Amino acid sequence: MESLSHKTAIVTGGGRGIGREICLKLAMAGADVLVADIDLAAAQGVAAEINSLNNRSAACRVDVTSKQAVLSMVETCVNTLGRLDILVNNAGVFPIAPLATMSESDWDRVIAVNLKGVFLCCQAALPAMRQANAAGRIINMASVSGLVGAVGFTHYAASKAGVIGFTRALAREVASMNITVNAIAPGIVDNEMTAQTFPKFALDQYLTQVPLRRLTLAEDVAEMVVFLASSGASYLTGQTIAVDGGYTMH
Ligand code: NAD
Repeated sequence: MESLSHKTAIVTGGGRGIGREICLKLAMAGADVLVADIDLAAAQGVAAEINSLNNRSAACRVDVTSKQAVLSMVETCVNTLGRLDILVNNAGVFPIAPLATMSESDWDRVIAVNLKGVFLCCQAALPAMRQANAAGRIINMASVSGLVGAVGFTHYAASKAGVIGFTRALAREVASMNITVNAIAPGIVDNEMTAQTFPKFALDQYLTQVPLRRLTLAEDVAEMVVFLASSGASYLTGQTIAVDGGYTMH
């Protein structure tokens, strides 16, 4: 029995990277998935992959910093897939910028996409989740940077620490509606973006501090999303789960 059959999910930033993997794993668990991304062609590609597996999926373009676009994303989900049970706030940007040279627009962009976007998506999704009258699930993508910081990422760390605080506050606010809100804090993920962002010596040094001695895989994060969306996680809320090979354990 697929654990998420009859459930419908929105995944922001679902067009590539971790978001793509989350879309595929949710679909394999039986969920219908709206793949939402600022890059419509990428979102359509992932939705086509899911449809070819005989699962139901649709794609839409969204800029998570726009209230109007986010409202229309939720409307598209309800109109095309029938309901909304699971929201995965995964869209994010992480441009490296040391504080001394960081521009105000660098700061504003990172906070707008990574933090304001989570607020807008949750606010837009909650009425549809309540209407579905099932166990709602909100899963926010944080980062180990939001827990322990990272050089060159003050804006990013602030946005992800904000996501963690937001997750706790909203979890308290919507618990009585049978909606859980949790966050995932991945360690550095093994993908193309990482190879472009971090020099090899920095990754090697990071790995010396990871007890399990490898980078996070997108699949590790996606498996945690599927678990948090499942009935097995019904008594978990307000938590931030570090999927980081033990990097931030304390
Ligand atoms: P990625 O850059 O590969 O994918 C991000 C996706 O978000 C892209 O498809 C992009 O088009 C989309 N996106 C960007 N801005 C958007 C906007 N305004 N509206 C809608 N969609 C938008 O990144 P990734 O590595 O897959 O990261 C996904 C999430 O995981 C992010 O929140 C990131 O901060 C977090 N994370 C990543 C790592 C890592 O090492 N890659 C580590 C920890 C946390």
